[in-house]
Amino acid sequence: MDFSLSDEERAVRDTVRAFVTREVVPLEDEVLRNERAGRPPLPDGVLTALQEKARAAGYWGVTTPPEYGGMGLAPVMHAVLEMELARTFVPFRFGGSADNILFAASAAQREAYLLPTIAGERRSCFALTEPGAGSDARNIRTRARRDGADWLLDGEKTFITGGDAADFAILFARADEGVTAFLVDRDRGWTSTPIPTMGEWSCASVVFDGVRVPADAVLGEVGGGLELALSWIGQGRYVIPARAVGAGERLLGMACAHASTRESMGHPIAEYQAIQWQIADSQVELEATKWLTLHAAWQAQTGRDARHATAIAKLHGAETANRVVDRVLQIHGGMGYTRELPIERWYRELRVLRIYEGTDEIQRRTIARNLLRGHVALGVIGD
Ligand SMILES: Cc1cc2nc3c(=O)[nH]c(=O)nc-3n(C[C@H](O)[C@H](O)[C@H](O)COP(=O)(O)OP(=O)(O)OC[C@H]3O[C@@H](n4cnc5c(N)ncnc54)[C@H](O)[C@@H]3O)c2cc1C
Repeated sequence: MDFSLSDEERAVRDTVRAFVTREVVPLEDEVLRNERAGRPPLPDGVLTALQEKARAAGYWGVTTPPEYGGMGLAPVMHAVLEMELARTFVPFRFGGSADNILFAASAAQREAYLLPTIAGERRSCFALTEPGAGSDARNIRTRARRDGADWLLDGEKTFITGGDAADFAILFARADEGVTAFLVDRDRGWTSTPIPTMGEWSCASVVFDGVRVPADAVLGEVGGGLELALSWIGQGRYVIPARAVGAGERLLGMACAHASTRESMGHPIAEYQAIQWQIADSQVELEATKWLTLHAAWQAQTGRDARHATAIAKLHGAETANRVVDRVLQIHGGMGYTRELPIERWYRELRVLRIYEGTDEIQRRTIARNLLRGHVALGVIGD
C-alpha cells in the first residue's frame, strides 16, 4: 500500500498551492468587502484574468481530456487539487472545464455546447431538483412530451446553481420512456429567478413553460437521463469532501495561530486542554476525511464501484467541515462571531455541504442499505 504521490503529482500539488497562496488568497479582503456591500465578489474580468494566468502556467481544464486541450487529471489528483483550491473562499476555479456528462454529447452538441463551455464562452447549469423532488430525484415531474419531431418541456426546477447566469440548462425531464436529459438554450424561452441563500452560493428557480426543443436536444439516450444525473452527482461526492478538507485545514490553522497568541487568565489559550482537545479532534476528523476522500477517488479512478466509498466520504466530510468551523469560531470567541474575520462567512458557506448532492440523511441511507442488502461487506481491505 503506497500513499505517496509521484514527483509529477507532488509538483502539481505544490504549484497549485503556491498559486492559491500568491494569487488568490490576497483577494480575500476585497471579496469580503464586496459581498458585505451586496456587490459581486470581484469586478468583472478579475477571475478570468486569473484563469488566463493559470493557463499560461499550464493549469487549464484540469479534468478535461488532453484531446480537448486539458490536463486530464484522474480522480485522485482532482481531489488533491480541490483540497488546495478550497483553502480560500475566493470563488476561483481553473478555466477549461465542462460538466463531466457533456462529454456524452453527440458530434453536433460537442460543437454547440461542450467546446464553447470548455472555452468559457458558454455557461451551463445542472437542473434536476424540483420543488416537489429533491432527495427523491427519481420522482421528478417536469414533463417532456413529443410534439411531431420536437419535444415540449414543462416544469419547474429549484436551487439550481448558476441557474441565473447560465445560457443553457442540462435539464432532466420525464418522457414516456423515462427520465431524459436535454440541452436547452436559454433563448428557447426558459426563465430564472435568483433564490437568496444564507451563504454566497447563488442558485435559482428555473421555469420551463411549454419550451420547444428539437429532437437533437436530447443528451445521451432517451430514457437514459437518470444514469447521466447520477454520474454528474457521483463526481461531486469526492469533490465535496475534498473541499471540506482544504477549508477545514485552513480554518484549523487560523485557530492554532489565534490560540497561540490570545491570552486569558495569564496564559495563551493554547495551553488550556479545553482548547487543545478542540484542535486535536478537528485534525483527527480532517485526516479521516482526507483519506476517505482519496480512497473513494482511487476507487473511481481504478474503475471500481465507488458509490459506497463516496457516500462515506461525502457524509464524513460535510459533517467534519461543519464541526471544525464551529470549533474554530468558538476558539476565536466573540471575534469569531463578527464580520471582522472571515470565519462567519465560512460557517455560512460550509453549511450547504450537508445538504446538496445528497443530504447527510441520504448518504446514511445509502450506506446502511448497501450493508443491510449485502451490496458491500464489512472487513474488506485493499479490494
Ligand atoms: C445552495 C444549493 C445549491 C444546489 N444546487 C443544485 C443544482 O445545481 N442542481 C440541482 O439539481 N440541485 C441543486 N440543489 C438541490 C439539492 O441537491 C437538494 O436541496 C437536496 O438534494 C435535498 O433536497 P430537498 O431540498 O428537496 O430536501 P428534501 O428531499 O425535501 O429533504 C428534506 C429533509 O428530509 C430528509 N429526507 C428526505 N428523504 C429522506 C429519506 N428517505 N430518509 C431520511 N431522510 C430523508 C432530507 O435529508 C432532509 O433533511 C442545490 C441546493 C442548494 C441548497
